[in-house]
Amino acid sequence: MSILTIKFGGTSVGSVDALKQAAAIVQDQIQKWKHVVVVVSAMNGITDALLTSARYAAGGDETVYRSTIDDIHRRHQETIRALLPKSEGRNNLETTINQFIQDLRTFCHSIHVMGEVTPRGTDSITSLGERMSARIFAALLESFGIPSIPVDATGLIVTDEHFMDAAPLMDLSRSRIQANLLPILEKGLTPVVTGFISATQKGITTTLGRGGSDYTSAILGACLDASEVWTYTDVDGVMTADPRLVPAARVVPALSYSEVAEMAYFGAKVLNPRTIRPIIERGIPLWVKNTFNPSHPGTRVSKDINSQPGKATAITTIRNLSIVNVEGRGMLGVPGIAARTFAAVAREGASVLMISQSSSEQSICFVIPTDSVPGVLRSIETEMALELIRRDIDRIWAQNDIEILTVIGAGMRETPGVSARIFGALGQAVINVIAIAQGSSEFSISMVLAAKDAARAVQAIHAEMVEKSPA
Ligand code: ADP
Ligand code: ASP
Ligand code: MG
Repeated sequence: MSILTIKFGGTSVGSVDALKQAAAIVQDQIQKWKHVVVVVSAMNGITDALLTSARYAAGGDETVYRSTIDDIHRRHQETIRALLPKSEGRNNLETTINQFIQDLRTFCHSIHVMGEVTPRGTDSITSLGERMSARIFAALLESFGIPSIPVDATGLIVTDEHFMDAAPLMDLSRSRIQANLLPILEKGLTPVVTGFISATQKGITTTLGRGGSDYTSAILGACLDASEVWTYTDVDGVMTADPRLVPAARVVPALSYSEVAEMAYFGAKVLNPRTIRPIIERGIPLWVKNTFNPSHPGTRVSKDINSQPGKATAITTIRNLSIVNVEGRGMLGVPGIAARTFAAVAREGASVLMISQSSSEQSICFVIPTDSVPGVLRSIETEMALELIRRDIDRIWAQNDIEILTVIGAGMRETPGVSARIFGALGQAVINVIAIAQGSSEFSISMVLAAKDAARAVQAIHAEMVEKSPA
């Protein structure tokens, strides 16, 4: 059986026009592939709104959470009424949506009474966005004459208990996915699966982390041995830079798995960073395409590397970061300072994005998300209490408002002069670089910059490393 999985992101299911456009794409592809598995995100903005309702319910502000829920309800109701003609099917759909909204009210009420929201509670709430959009999309496909059924991925993807960022248990997931989806496909039905959501072995709802619907579609594609995995978004494909930052950004026609993985890891929002993992083993090609410009071929991601020597494939940034410095002359030659520092960071559960230690060993600095800073500083201060009293360590401090900029490209490998061109471009734009690291793959060079300089830096490097080469 040759199967195609198609994922539609938030904007692709976020309005009546977008939904119709997406359904037309499915209709087209069913003619060609026969078996299509659809994955949908929540309507754009809904996951954020659900998080807001939970936060205000916990914070005690009843009027805000109630009005947020009313907004979520109204958006879905208006969409359904504009999308489908009056019918029994539409009434049933509205009843189903009302039930989910009622669940949301009940969840928020208990959070309000308890005065706090746990990660587990958050997942139950955010999962509602995809549960609703999958029902709407399946009903829409039916109205297009495509027999279809909504499927909650809680019965398909089994994960660990790491709420809000769960990891799938692939063997268990594979058997559930095959057992549940293959019979649906064999019956000639098109399943519309909720992106983003999953469940523990005990059946408790988890989520795969923000932007996780891309990951859902890759997991389904790998477990069903799909021929291809397509993800539809609101731009023509993976671009050489975030088009909101660099108007001259171009679509990259073909990318290797490792390049796209590096891009996603270093902040390109277009694809969730874990998406590649399940499909890389089976070599399943992934396409990134535009719902609003379906005749554009988009970007093909596969194992093939096709690079131009010296040319960068893409430039990405990660925002909202801080650089933590541990400084002191007494650190010189003392074994274990670095290990103890990072153990203290790990106890806080903070992810370290970049590390640099100066050769004099008088300082260690590393980059973490800004919201982890207070906890991390406290944890290192506790670990190093004695060294601080002895003045072996003078200062542990953080600089906020920084970003990591990464230049990615297989074409930069073993090409001399690449760094000189990158830093030359920054020098000409009079931009100061705080720290530098080269990825061990030689596919990427990352640098730390002040946030105020980041946009100009991306533009300057893009002009030098991308725009000067033929498209
Ligand atoms: P979806 O809901 O469809 O998954 P996202 O908003 O998560 O959409 O991702 C698509 C957005 O990612 C684009 O609208 C674009 O603004 C942004 N983006 C950032 N970097 C890139 C890049 N290098 N290539 C393409 N899009 C990018
Ligand atoms: N709806 C989820 C989010 O906003 C997942 C996704 O869109 O991929 O993060
Ligand atoms: Mg996304």
